[in-house]
Amino acid sequence: MSNVKVLNQGEKFSHASVGSIQHFNGKEFVKDATGATSCEISFGTLPSGSSVPFFHSHKENEENYIILSGSGRFQVDDDVFDIAEGSVVRVATNCDRNIKCTSSEAMTYICIQAKESSLGGYTMDDAAITERENLL
Ligand code: ZN
Repeated sequence: MSNVKVLNQGEKFSHASVGSIQHFNGKEFVKDATGATSCEISFGTLPSGSSVPFFHSHKENEENYIILSGSGRFQVDDDVFDIAEGSVVRVATNCDRNIKCTSSEAMTYICIQAKESSLGGYTMDDAAITERENLL
């Protein structure tokens, strides 16, 4: 049972939420709620002292882990390094990865999975400033 809630949708957007990050627990994937076509985003938590119960790899998708709270260790194949709130870790295809929380508080993170080498133009190469009345 997913705790991801679709809050509102329009023709060109979908707005979903997992709720308070501070109180988030478990693992949630949001692609189905938002209808994303370019990446899968998941939220995850690890209790103090725990790691994901398995290593895994991806054939075509890279993963980008963003640590929101807590600290711990990250392993990619046989490389191990420390991570903490604010860390961003990109992991390529065809390698094993795992994450462990070593802080007394739980670790909360976001993982963004997208097809490796699929990013073409980005930021201002892909963007255009547009004329729109500000309704905010
Ligand atoms: Zn993965």
